[in-house]
Amino acid sequence: PSTPTVVGRFAPSPSGPLHAGSLLAAIGSALSVRSQGGRWLLRLEDVDAGRVRPGAADAILRQLEALALDWDGPVLTQAARKERYQDALKALQEQGAAYPCACTRQDIRGFGARYPGTCRQGLAHGRQPRSWRLRVPDTLPPWEDRFHGRQDTPAPQGDPVLLRADSYFAYILACVVDDGAQGVSEVIRGGDLLSITGVQRHLQNALNLPHPQYGHLPLLCNAEGRKLSKSADSPAWTGDPSQAWEETLRALGWTTPAGLRGASAGTWRDWALARMAEGQPLYRVSADATGPRRRT
Ligand code: GLU
Repeated sequence: PSTPTVVGRFAPSPSGPLHAGSLLAAIGSALSVRSQGGRWLLRLEDVDAGRVRPGAADAILRQLEALALDWDGPVLTQAARKERYQDALKALQEQGAAYPCACTRQDIRGFGARYPGTCRQGLAHGRQPRSWRLRVPDTLPPWEDRFHGRQDTPAPQGDPVLLRADSYFAYILACVVDDGAQGVSEVIRGGDLLSITGVQRHLQNALNLPHPQYGHLPLLCNAEGRKLSKSADSPAWTGDPSQAWEETLRALGWTTPAGLRGASAGTWRDWALARMAEGQPLYRVSADATGPRRRT
């Protein structure tokens, strides 16, 4: 029997064009899958309509084309899949894995970074449900990140929202439902999502979905060594695909030959895949890495 095909994906939010951090996820996920002869899918994560910027989805597709990254099959768009998320939420509600939360924005601001579970045991008399949250156990089973090894972080922000008060489904749910529906077997993505993976794996258990293998890429830092935030100060796309390939591979710790500078995106891609066929790892966490580290 043949081994099943690896299925990977790139899942950008169309809140703007790809920047250094999202280029890393695009190139990293594509190289990983292609080096294994797998399928690479593209999904536009636009559940949060408030963050969608007009023209961004198109800009992202054109950037990927310019980078010589060809995705397989149709592009999946989350905005069209609300019933799927509704079905998943219903399944979670029925098994008691999701609960209504009456906390207002103001309550939540007062809690700080972690939701303390105020509505976990039921709503106080007279309080109206506003959102739905996932009940996450205090300890989550450890799992292995491909690059960072064993992870056992508990839910960093407490029980996450699944359906928001403004009636948008949350990324954390939509992403899990879609990875399941698309048969995704490996997720290579930005290091900023390492800490929520345990919660997404918990959701997969509750929804009877298989766990993909996860690998989180380094967080990029600016010249002062400060972590680049997603949209705020991450260097913008310069419009030069050759430069984007070079900078991305360097961010992954590769040595890139000066002779390739200015080469076409297709040449960079084929060179990178040839190196991987010779054993070049996509990314190896080094002792001085600035990325997420395994907890000790
Ligand atoms: N849409 C998410 C983002 O742009 C990525 C989600 C994921 O790769 O799981 O950060």
